[in-house]
Amino acid sequence: MNKKQKESSKTYLWIYGSIIAGLLIWSFFGTTSGPIKTSWDIVKNELVSSHSVEKVEVVNEKIANVYIKTSAIDSLAKMDQFKNIAHSSKEAQLYFRIGSLEVFQNDFKTAQEQYSEYIPLEFKDETNLLDGFFNMLPLLFLIGLTIYMMRRMSRGSGGGGGGNVFNVGKAKAQEFDKDAVDKITFKDVAGLSEVKIEIMEIVDFLKNPKKYSDLGGKIPKGALLIGPPGTGKTLLAKAVAGEADVPFLSMSGSDFVEMFVGVGASRVRDLFKQAKEKSPCIVFIDEIDAIGRARSKNGGYSSNDERENTLNQLLTEMDGFGTNSGVIILAATNRADILDKALTRAGRFDRQVNVELPNQEERKEILDVHIRRLKLGDDFESAFFAKQTPGFSGADIANVCNEAALMAARKNKTVVEKQDFLDAIDRIVGGLERKSKVITPKEKRTIAFHEAGHATVSWMLEHANPLIKVTIVPRGKSLGAAWYLPGERQITTYEQLMHEMAATLGGRAAEEIVFGEISTGALSDLEKVTKQSYSMIAYYGMGKETSNLSFYNSTGTDSFTKPYSELTAQKIDIESKELIDISYKSALDIIRSNQKQFTVLAELLIEKEVVFAEDLERIFGKKDATASQEVEISQEEKQENIVAE
Ligand code: ADP
Repeated sequence: MNKKQKESSKTYLWIYGSIIAGLLIWSFFGTTSGPIKTSWDIVKNELVSSHSVEKVEVVNEKIANVYIKTSAIDSLAKMDQFKNIAHSSKEAQLYFRIGSLEVFQNDFKTAQEQYSEYIPLEFKDETNLLDGFFNMLPLLFLIGLTIYMMRRMSRGSGGGGGGNVFNVGKAKAQEFDKDAVDKITFKDVAGLSEVKIEIMEIVDFLKNPKKYSDLGGKIPKGALLIGPPGTGKTLLAKAVAGEADVPFLSMSGSDFVEMFVGVGASRVRDLFKQAKEKSPCIVFIDEIDAIGRARSKNGGYSSNDERENTLNQLLTEMDGFGTNSGVIILAATNRADILDKALTRAGRFDRQVNVELPNQEERKEILDVHIRRLKLGDDFESAFFAKQTPGFSGADIANVCNEAALMAARKNKTVVEKQDFLDAIDRIVGGLERKSKVITPKEKRTIAFHEAGHATVSWMLEHANPLIKVTIVPRGKSLGAAWYLPGERQITTYEQLMHEMAATLGGRAAEEIVFGEISTGALSDLEKVTKQSYSMIAYYGMGKETSNLSFYNSTGTDSFTKPYSELTAQKIDIESKELIDISYKSALDIIRSNQKQFTVLAELLIEKEVVFAEDLERIFGKKDATASQEVEISQEEKQENIVAE
């Protein structure tokens, strides 16, 4: 709303306010010189009896106005209660309220008979202006509410539109000024060294376009940053704008699409118009998959026409503006596979930059960036924590640092210590500790043996992930957990997968061995192994009969029919089940052959609730040294597989 609109709405408020105030004043003071209030009893006993009443007029069946004979007025005025009585006989001089009209009429008739006086009784309907106003109030309220809602809807239209309904097609891009004080530069982006090199070139394009155009080269129009959420794609884009010293317009893919048809395309046009006005500048479209998803082939039947129109407009705009107009588009997505091919072809997003999850060294660098603003204790070591946070994205690490500071503050510490970081990691991975959850001693025993089962199997298998700690403290939704440190590897072998599955099934195997019955506690384990075994067979081609066949669909589009026959489906089912059976058997075998140590571990868990890798080493011996015997078991099984083929 601009200033003018604000002022005019203020004027309206004044007008409405004055009208209401006027009506209220009129209703209270405007009628003071009217009839005097009295009651039927007084009228009957004092006036009807003395033959002073000219007529009675009933208004709206509720009020009776009494007209006094002119000859009687003077004598009435002498009475104390009627001393202010009006002398004119044009209007009623007295009035009283009627409870029930029927009772009043009967009473009136009797009084007339009693005093042998005929008094005319008239009936009248009157509408009061104020009554009408109050009756209209609900309607006025509804109209007001509707207008308010419509205004709100047009204003808050997904951050895309501005002001009112007519501005809905305007792109409301967030703009970061190049002169902002807290500008982000490459210094704030840790790790990602290869990505930075690639991106730095874009900065150079914006700074020295002539260098490239003189040689006849065309400046790329855009770069697509692809990677999982939280890996720093937005941060990188902002850093490019900060380094190149140009304005930065940022918008999310979902901001374009609106419930109104045609709005997306118009917003794209508007965004590019704004960008050209500000050129040289950077336009950043986050989550571009919201609009850039591959267009459907069965045109006409799709319900996503609006999105497709938006995408078409984006494609047109990217082609349309002159190569050297100085607008570079950066876009981010974590689903590059589902993007429309037209979007990723050369000439539009010429460059595709993969932003991966940080490795250990990069995590250390990111930690170093984020601990800059923390007050740290002496025992903090970023290398140690980089090791403890495999699979964490940059955003997760930033969150750990913040959470650690909050934990330290909660304990009224003056510095953030190592333990605060450990607690923060636990909390982020597992959720909040739930000390209040009621667990019976029997359940606690089951949970302890279940977790001990995981720990034992994973400790004894060479390729299962190394364990950090086991706990039976309930956290978030889980009742207990075994925490592993997954190795950083890009490819996983059959054996590694089998060992991981056996470790996951260790919990249920332990329950079967110790209690002779199984429980529902293994739900998430079973879900995990089922998914894993099916993907081993159907995606990674690791089955016997379905070997080297993969039904993975990298395009991300859903198909209604299975890409394989019913026979293959049955084979996949059978082979997946077989893998799970092998893993389960191996888990059972390992626990049985290490039952003594396994029981010691479970008892220790019941006692201490948290057991660390050091305790396991004390009970089982070093992981690698003891593993050999069990590895053989699983290798045997694998051989079995091969022979059976
Ligand atoms: P994305 O756009 O990839 O989802 P963001 O760029 O929004 O992720 O990252 C979210 C936050 O995570 C950033 O604001 C920053 O604090 C932190 N972060 C992510 N990656 C890095 C990194 N490489 N260096 C420093 N901080 C990072």
